Amino acid sequence: MRIEYFHLGVKPIFRETYTLGKGKHTPKGYEITGECIGCGKCVQICPQQCVAPGTPYRIAQEHCLHCGNCFEQCPVQAVTKKI
Ligand code: SF4
Ligand code: SF4
Repeated sequence: MRIEYFHLGVKPIFRETYTLGKGKHTPKGYEITGECIGCGKCVQICPQQCVAPGTPYRIAQEHCLHCGNCFEQCPVQAVTKKI
């Protein structure tokens, strides 16, 4: 069983996932790959301000809402979706 925990009392919100029993933990959410050209668009559109500059840019997974904005707006499709 997979349990997702949100702490909405902090900004940015905090997310954590727990797996109970023998269930396999399947990562979800979004990841920035080496295709990133560092344009900074994802930083501007992220409602959580949880994307940090770098090579490539990096998503702070514990604060990510999984809204998909970065995935949809990246001009070079550098953001991939973890299923
Ligand atoms: S929008 Fe895409 S290319 Fe631009 S910084 Fe973000 S991940 Fe990199
Ligand atoms: S999925 Fe949404 S919250 Fe998460 S990094 Fe992308 S834009 Fe930010």
